[in-house]
Amino acid sequence: MIANTMTALAKTQPREGLWQVQAPVPEIGPDDVLIRVKATGICGTDIHIWSWDDWAASTVPLPLITGHEFAGEIVEIGRNVQGLTLGQRCSGEGHLIGSDSRQSRSGKFHLDPGTRGIGVNVQGAFAQYLKLPAFNVVPLPDDIPDHIGAILDPLGNAVHTALSFDLLGEDVLITGAGPIGIMAAAVARHAGARNVVLTDVNDYRLALAEKVVPAVRTVNVAKEDLNDVCAELGLKEGFDVGLEMSGNQAALDQMVEALVMGGKIALLGIPPGQSPVDWSRIVFKAITIKGVYGREMFETWYKMIAMLQNGLDVSRVITHEYEAADFTKGFAAMRSGRSGKVVLNWS
Ligand code: ZN
Repeated sequence: MIANTMTALAKTQPREGLWQVQAPVPEIGPDDVLIRVKATGICGTDIHIWSWDDWAASTVPLPLITGHEFAGEIVEIGRNVQGLTLGQRCSGEGHLIGSDSRQSRSGKFHLDPGTRGIGVNVQGAFAQYLKLPAFNVVPLPDDIPDHIGAILDPLGNAVHTALSFDLLGEDVLITGAGPIGIMAAAVARHAGARNVVLTDVNDYRLALAEKVVPAVRTVNVAKEDLNDVCAELGLKEGFDVGLEMSGNQAALDQMVEALVMGGKIALLGIPPGQSPVDWSRIVFKAITIKGVYGREMFETWYKMIAMLQNGLDVSRVITHEYEAADFTKGFAAMRSGRSGKVVLNWS
């Protein structure tokens, strides 16, 4: 039996915080499923919404149930939906897309310009139940537990970024050791990179990276010179591929300097505003830059599940787990700068 109301975490007022509310259980349409949420991940995006910064204030409608990283099980199926069953464990793509744009009609669903995000633009996953288009559902194999299912969204960001360029045998520089940067380092190792160097200025995060990722070389760039690390690793001409995960101007400048001629950069980090770039340096080094948004639907999901089943282990990036009722502790851990992924349990 599904009740009429449910517990959820919502942004109800235009100020700092999130609040536990009772909300109606969503009514699904013919192409949707209803998912009983079991575990959710707290994202940096949720912290922006908690803090109610300029981006959140200009993007998020009120009131809104937040959260977009989840795992759960299907408990109701719309009448047009085929191929899914009640009780199916799943995660899902939180970007809701249209089907009319040129990009969607050519199968590049992740590039649909009308994309809306659950927990950002429409009702989200920090709740006992989530309504999701069946199209967005990603079934979870039995060997992927719920707490990993709850972080497939950010792992997907890491996979999408890391697999933007061929990494086999390459030397890879990753700037920003947040959870996504750490998971990108794990993916780069798994994908056969030779050297993976991960930079940050936060020692907690660099220490966490060393626990999660085998043979990653971490560098606190406030204390250590990246050139010295290149010399130590025998990189005469620099790194082949850069993955920018921090949104930090100095990190991007450092990356451009540290790349080989003809090097490649995938950018996932979001700078806080407009930031000056030395384009002539990029032109003369013949550098290729790719912006990365979200996950490829559904190639990124396929690849990440395959890699998880083939030995990729990111479980230790989850540093804190709380019951959903203790969400304030989870958000405090996230905001302290001394956490990896934080997971809330809804069972
Ligand atoms: Zn996220």
